[in-house]
Formats: sequence, structure tokens, C-alpha cells
Amino acid sequence: MSSTAVFRSRLDRAAAAAADAGFDALLVTPGSDLRYLIGAQGGSFERLTCLVLPADGSAATLVVPKLELLGYESVLVDGLGVEAATWVDGENPAKLAAGLLRNPKRVAVSDFTPALHVFGLRDALAGVDQALAGPVIRELRMRKDDSEIASLREAGAAIDRVHARMAEFLRAGRTENEVAADIAEAILEEGHAVAEFVIVGSGPNGASPHHSASDRVIEQGDVVVIDIGGPVPAGYNSDSTRTYSIGAPRDADVAGTYAVLQQAQAAAVAAVRPGVTAQDIDLAARKVIADAGFGQFFIHRTGHGIGLDVHEEPYIVDGNDLPLEPGMAFSVEPGIYQPGRWGARIEDIVVVTEDGVESFNNQPHELVVLGE
Ligand code: ZN
Ligand code: ZN
Ligand code: ZN
Repeated sequence: MSSTAVFRSRLDRAAAAAADAGFDALLVTPGSDLRYLIGAQGGSFERLTCLVLPADGSAATLVVPKLELLGYESVLVDGLGVEAATWVDGENPAKLAAGLLRNPKRVAVSDFTPALHVFGLRDALAGVDQALAGPVIRELRMRKDDSEIASLREAGAAIDRVHARMAEFLRAGRTENEVAADIAEAILEEGHAVAEFVIVGSGPNGASPHHSASDRVIEQGDVVVIDIGGPVPAGYNSDSTRTYSIGAPRDADVAGTYAVLQQAQAAAVAAVRPGVTAQDIDLAARKVIADAGFGQFFIHRTGHGIGLDVHEEPYIVDGNDLPLEPGMAFSVEPGIYQPGRWGARIEDIVVVTEDGVESFNNQPHELVVLGE
């Protein structure tokens, strides 16, 4: 399918999903939802840009500041069926957007629309019920098509190549920040468009799951959590964690605890197939960790969906009874965190296939001992 045909089909399906959910229109401002629907990557600024997509199947209109129209030219192609409605400073773009709809009763606004524009649209659509568009658009976005899966596979292979090079960067005597800077460079070298995040959690910092990097000097015997990723040029993200040890681990409990973690991660991946619920995958990892007595040290959900955003639906968390379907892609990333001492996490991105699971990350899962 041409990209125009792909986006045309997404617009049609989004309009139909909006109608099913009882909305008259979707109002989508720049961000990953807009990129998903029409392939446009503009930023969200103080001037309103907004795709107005009527749920009745009539033509979509991109409300856009005249000075930014050029950036959206690729969207205004024959076959996509998106028109532009430009405005200039001094005009009210929210009124322009509202005027494109005939007697709307209920509209949905994209989740990450700045409050500045949410309030503008609220005034311009006084009396119209407004709700979040996320629940509508996620029904499309969490079921990846073949080209999205190909991009995620490419991203996974690219981040695997960075992990494979870790001995170049990660050594005793260097700070986490120094190591992180080198990794960020390698993330770009291996095919990403942006080094979106680099977590280097050494020693006690590894026990803080979202630690980024610091001036702490890495020591012999440290366990180090490396969680890295970013988008490839098509916009789809990688996100992979491996845990390393600088020489033999200093703490005697590392090997045994890590073996439990590795077993938990493998059990969760093995449980992935169509029809199993998201919370079943969380439970598969959590049960292994809890049965070994480490339940209180696994302090986050098992995973998150991934695509144009690093974190998106479906969330792999207790309470999410969503049945998994082919095309759903998400992380499986249990961790065990020993406060003040060390932490470990193993993270792969996987996709549900017709009869099971495919992992986009394929570096070894064992604790990787460097510098021996
Ligand atoms: Zn995270
Ligand atoms: Zn991660
Ligand atoms: Zn993740």
C-alpha cells in the first residue's frame, strides 16, 4: 500500500471508531496521534494546528496557521482527502475549527493537546460535550500493521547492536554520564533518528527504575542497569534493557536474584499469545518473582505498549483485562530493585503473532559480565 492509501485507511477507520463511540468529530493536534493519522510531524505551538475529522465520513480539514502551511504540504496530496483551512495572527483558529462542524453535540480532543488550545476549543464549542480522543485512537494504534511491525523490528535490531557494543563504553572508573554520552552516540550510529533516553543505573542507582545518569563513578563489582532507546526514522521506537556487571558482582546475592528475574521475564514472554489478557502477562512475571520472595522489590508494571510513543497502550498491568491480539507490541520488563544496593531489569519488546510471540530484542538475557 502507498503511504497515502495507508493514511486514508487510518482516517476512515478513525472516523468510524469515533462514530461508534458516539462522537461527531475528532480534533487532533500535532503529536503522535496526528503523525499516525496523516504522517505529519509538526510541533504543537501557541498557534493552533488541528485536524478536524468528522465522524460522518465527510472530508477532514487541517486548521493550520498560514505561516506553517508549507510544513504540511505532504499531507495536502490528492487521494488523502485532507483540505487545509489557514488562519493568520489576529484570527480565532478555535472558532475556525468549530465552524467546520455542523451542529456537533460531542467531540473528542487528542490527549496531549496543550491546555491553551483545549480551553480555546472549549470556548469555541460552548455547550458541546468534549472528551478525550485517546480511547478512540488507541483502538487503531495498538494494533500494528505490517509496516509498523517492520519498523519496530528494525528499531529492535538497532538497539540490540548498541547493547552488543556495551564493552566499548561501560568500564570501571568512568562516570554514568560519560558512559551515557557514548551510548547516545552509538544509538544514532546504529540507525536511530534520536537517542531518546539513556538510563545508566550503576550500583545503588540501579535500584531506582527511572534513574537517568549521574556523575557517579562506576566501580569494579557494580551491577549496572542499561535501559536505552529511541525512534528510527519512520518514528517507531526501540526500548531495551540489559543488566551488566563490572567484573564479578560485589554482592553475593546478585547471581541468585538475577536468575529469578531472568526466569520471570522468560515466563512472561512465553505466556504471550492471542487471547491471553494483558494482566495475565504481568501476573506471569510477578508470580515467579513473588514465589521466590522478592515480590516487594518488583515495584512497577511488567510493560507498556510501544510504537510512535515509547509508552502507549496496551499497558501490561494488573487490572488490564484486554485480550491480546496479533499486532499488539509491548515491552516485557520485570525488575528487582534492592534499595541502596543494586537493581536489575531485563526488557524486550515483543509483538503478538497469529499463534504466539515474536521478540524484537534478541541479545542474551544473562547478566553480562564485562571487563574480565
Ligand atoms: Zn519506563
Ligand atoms: Zn526501557
Ligand atoms: Zn520500557
